[in-house]
Amino acid sequence: MTALVYRRILLKLSGEALMGEGAHGIDPDVLERYAREVQALVAAGAQVALVIGGGNIFRGAGLAARGMDRVTGDHMGMLATVMNALAMRDALERLGLPARVMSALEVDQVCEGYAHRRALKHLECGRVVLFAGGTGNPFFTTDSAASLRAVEIGADLLVKATKVDGVYSADPVTEPSAAFYPRLSYDQALREDLRVMDATAIVLCRDHAMPLRVMNINETGALLRLIRGEDVGSLVVS
Ligand code: UDP
Repeated sequence: MTALVYRRILLKLSGEALMGEGAHGIDPDVLERYAREVQALVAAGAQVALVIGGGNIFRGAGLAARGMDRVTGDHMGMLATVMNALAMRDALERLGLPARVMSALEVDQVCEGYAHRRALKHLECGRVVLFAGGTGNPFFTTDSAASLRAVEIGADLLVKATKVDGVYSADPVTEPSAAFYPRLSYDQALREDLRVMDATAIVLCRDHAMPLRVMNINETGALLRLIRGEDVGSLVVS
């Protein structure tokens, strides 16, 4: 077995990544495909934690723009992340992978609450841990939750899975001439407003020297190559 360069990783998936070609909700085929990517990592000996967003169901800012109280909207957004995490746990378990959902919001009947030491224990026992409910606070994002949990669990690497190959000077979908950045610093990402993650998440990673890879989740096998040390996507460092 090839040695792993990164043994413990936290993978952030946006809620939208679960939609596939749909306009909202969850595409079961896409879910299974991502679950298989995670399965390959676990089979290679990695400890895997996941943070999944909720944008395929609700975003607080979007609801607030249509008149809803922002805090209520954010609560709905956080609950949406719990739903996505439950769906992913189900997909992982169907592949035979033990998985636990730990929520920052208390939803005792459906999953565990987040507890730092228990999360570490799950990871050490080879269980995939899905951190749900974001940070548990309104006005934050799941990028911030991913950064926070990555730092808390001492992840070797935070991976942000996207629909594009990495970090570009502009959105490569709308601007084909955008330049690709194979490696950059968090300060550069902030200075050039590169939208790698939101500023809160970037600053947390920067201040705690948490390396970040931004990569394309739709490239089959890329995650596995990444944790084995291949240069996949863009690397963001302090
Ligand atoms: N959210 C929140 N606090 C958090 C994380 C998320 O209030 O710590 C809410 C917020 O409304 C956000 C929604 O949950 O819009 C879904 O998360 P996010 O937008 O980060 O999901 P993604 O864009 O990754 O799908």
